Amino acid sequence: MIYRADYIFPIDREPIINGYVEVDKEGTILSCGSADSLDTKGRASAEYFKGILIPGFANAHCHVELSHMKGFFRQGTGMDGFIQQINALRLTVNREERIAALTEQMEQMYSAGVSVMADISNCDESFECKVSSPIYSRTYLEVFGTEPEDAPQILAGAIELQKKAKQMGLDAAPTPHSPYTMSPLLNRLSSAEGLKSGYISYHNQESDQEEDMIRYGTGELAEDYKARGCSMPPATGDSALKYFLDNLQKEIKAPIEGRVLLVHNTVTDQESIDEALKVLKSPYWVVCPLSNIFIHRMLPPLDLLRANNLTICVGTDSLSSNLQLSMVEEIRCIQGHFPHIPLEEILKWCCINGTCAVGAEKRFGSFTPGKRPGIVLIDNINWERMELTKESKSERII
Ligand SMILES: [Zn+2]
Repeated sequence: MIYRADYIFPIDREPIINGYVEVDKEGTILSCGSADSLDTKGRASAEYFKGILIPGFANAHCHVELSHMKGFFRQGTGMDGFIQQINALRLTVNREERIAALTEQMEQMYSAGVSVMADISNCDESFECKVSSPIYSRTYLEVFGTEPEDAPQILAGAIELQKKAKQMGLDAAPTPHSPYTMSPLLNRLSSAEGLKSGYISYHNQESDQEEDMIRYGTGELAEDYKARGCSMPPATGDSALKYFLDNLQKEIKAPIEGRVLLVHNTVTDQESIDEALKVLKSPYWVVCPLSNIFIHRMLPPLDLLRANNLTICVGTDSLSSNLQLSMVEEIRCIQGHFPHIPLEEILKWCCINGTCAVGAEKRFGSFTPGKRPGIVLIDNINWERMELTKESKSERII
């Protein structure tokens, strides 16, 4: 089969005007290039699409098991308000309804072009759906717990869950939630355990409240923990990321191998970035712009990340902090606030970078011959500005 479009973004090379992509019956990429190079037969058989064709997206941060929380959350509450709502709303519907909600979201994501997903799970509710979904998912079995004496038991629970996931054929391993929701002991033990698999995903520097708590032991988040009688990590005077890296080095010597997804990075700075590049061999910097706006009314510092040449990925986060799980909405948000960033660059973040973060690059992420990444159409493009418009949507072709 040959598919033509006004533009093809193969991701592994420059965009092609009036391009084509050719696949076999299984969807394996055979070739890709300018439609002018097709012979008469090829041109006659090609199916034409108005818009851009790209390989399937990689959603680099999702909590699909929170899908039943759609529409429940107040916006702009900050981190402490958000956590209070999560705790209150997590179990408002039964298991069956929660599974139905996440299944619907997985199906929607697939038809909108997501081929790869880095998903955070706290329980097994998404496992069956992931097994039967055509989306490749890597599952990060997230742990948290503020009391150090609970750490061994919490981690043992995640390892049990990992066994179950593996038996079902899923790639999964324990992962730490964040600096502020866990004891230093659980933080480093779960990181080390996850890194045995080669992959962890960690909520990093999402808010000023998190930085205040880790640096100084102050702020709304710290007050909330005190009020609930929870232990807090010691105030180090350092950024939350430096605290994490120092703590992790008590278990593993730097440079630390493994693909580490640092998620959010809303309030990261040059010093934290320098520290991460010293300690981690393969950090991936995941941004979830709509989630940051939803909770904090903030955006990730994309120009700082770009100036450091970091590997940026894009995630939707969950329906507790987003109105939809849509990569196109995230791209539109990025283009709306950072109009100087070329679409080509953003699409790399959304396709190949997230794919590499979960280790699925042999099959997904680009139109490289031999891969089977899926083909996705994005329509209603403003060609002059090379921007998505309000009408743009994504749709899976194969
Ligand atoms: Zn998250």
